[in-house]
This record gives sequence, C-alpha cells and structure tokens, in this order.
Amino acid sequence: MIIFKSINKLKEKVNIMANVGFVPTMGSLHKGHISLIKNSKQKCTKTLVSIFVNPSQFNKSADYRKYPRNLNNDLKILKKLKVDYLLIPSINDVYQTKKQMKIKINNKDKILCSKYRPGHFEGVLGVISVFLKNIKAKYMFLGNKDFQQIYLIKKYLGNKFKTKIVVCKTIRFKNSLAYSSRNNLLSRKNIKNGILISNIIKKFHNQIFKDFSKIKEIKNIKHKISSICSRVEYLEIRNKKNLKSNINKNNFKIFVAYYLDNVRLIDNF
Ligand code: AMP
Repeated sequence: MIIFKSINKLKEKVNIMANVGFVPTMGSLHKGHISLIKNSKQKCTKTLVSIFVNPSQFNKSADYRKYPRNLNNDLKILKKLKVDYLLIPSINDVYQTKKQMKIKINNKDKILCSKYRPGHFEGVLGVISVFLKNIKAKYMFLGNKDFQQIYLIKKYLGNKFKTKIVVCKTIRFKNSLAYSSRNNLLSRKNIKNGILISNIIKKFHNQIFKDFSKIKEIKNIKHKISSICSRVEYLEIRNKKNLKSNINKNNFKIFVAYYLDNVRLIDNF
C-alpha cells in the first residue's frame, strides 16, 4: 500500500484516469467501510482510500475534537485488505482557501440532518468537491447509511464530475445496529440501547410495509424510542427518491437521528 500525505503527490504518482475506485472515509474503520473497499476492489483495478476527519462538516468543534481517531488500527485493516493507495492529507493540503470548505445548499434541502446540523452537508459537499476535482477516480463508493449525504452529493456534484457514484448497502451487526465509527464512543449500556432502537424501527418498517396505515403509529414509536435514549432529534418517513413527504408503500424510508448520552447516531430503514 502506498501512503500519500498530499493530494498533489498522489496526482503525480498515480494514473487516476485509470480504473480507480475511491472510498472517502473519516477513519476509525469498521465493517461498513470494509464493505465499501471490497466493492471497490471487485469493480476496479486499483482502490484508493482516504482518511480525513473534515473539520468543515462538524457544526460543533467539541464533536470534531472527540471524533474517534484510530490510525494504527486503520493501517492494519487497509494493509490486510491489500488496498493500493491511502491518502491521509492535512487540512492545509485539502483546502487552499476558506471558500472551498463549504458549498451552499438550497433552503428546501434543509431537512433531516441538514436541518439539525446546520453547515454539515455544506462541509461534506466542500470536501468531496475538492477530492473529486483532484482525484479523477472512475467510481466513488458511498454507504447507504448516510442516505441524505448520497442524495445531496448526487444533486449538487453529480453533474460537475465524471466520477460515478456506487451506492453500497448498510452493514449491520446481527442484532441490526448499524456499524458506525461513533459506536466507539458508546458505553455498553448505550450499545444495548442502540440495538433496541434499531430493532424497534426495523419492526416498524416491516409493519408499514405489510399495512401502510401503520404509518400513523409514528408518534408512538417516537415516544417509545425517546424513553430509551437521551433525545430523538428526528424520526421521519419520507420518499426515498426525492426526500419529500409524498410517501406510499413502495417509496417510503424511515429516517432517524438520536442521542445516546452525548453521542449522536443516525440510521435509515
Ligand atoms: P465515515 O467514515 O463515517 O465518513 O463514512 C465513510 C463512508 O462509509 C460513507 O460513505 C458512509 O456512508 C460509509 N459507511 C459508514 N457506516 C457504514 C455502514 N454501517 N455500512 C455501510 N457503509 C457505511
């Protein structure tokens, strides 16, 4: 595995026009990331992983500071997977100007996480835009766990770059809790609470699928979840094609964001 600490060095050394798959991450790698990497290895001749905890997507500086970082373990995982290239750039390497750190989004897209984490997706779009401008990979692999992220990247950056997005399914523990780097911050008790919550929503999803009139139970479900966690930020059912509220049996998706103590988790079913 060749490790690059600068995007320019990577551009010099690697023929990124070739069939390269790009997997952007913030590190603290888990089975979700591993599945994206395996997808890339299957589809592409070379795989490039980036690890960059992007400051511009954190709306709270304390959250940025406490975000789990685990580089030694990440290196072990990536070497074992025989990843070809790893990019670990510094903040100054990624951003030459402050303007690059954020891309504006329309008010009508300020729903779900975009409503509750102001500036978050603006920062995500900023960093992905810098990466795609420089790293002309053929494919970029993203996880469905961050459903709204994929929606906004496609909407705002899809026409600007040739890189095609490959959406990969959410990887979960057998007990249905989704893998997340933030799980590292949870106490044992809160891991159990996270498992309970994901099972409640999974069950709710199946009930709606069988009998669409069950959507009216959403208030009760929210109440139930609230009694398990510190706070439910949102629990909403939306159309998975356009994130609007015109839902039916075939297009609905349940979105949730909640806090276990001060750790914020998101998921969708
Ligand atoms: P992150 O390191 O959290 O920024 O995530 C990097 C990429 O991994 C994003 O495309 C995420 O959607 C994806 N990802 C995170 N968790 C999972 C998961 N449990 N299953 C599949 N993909 C995931």
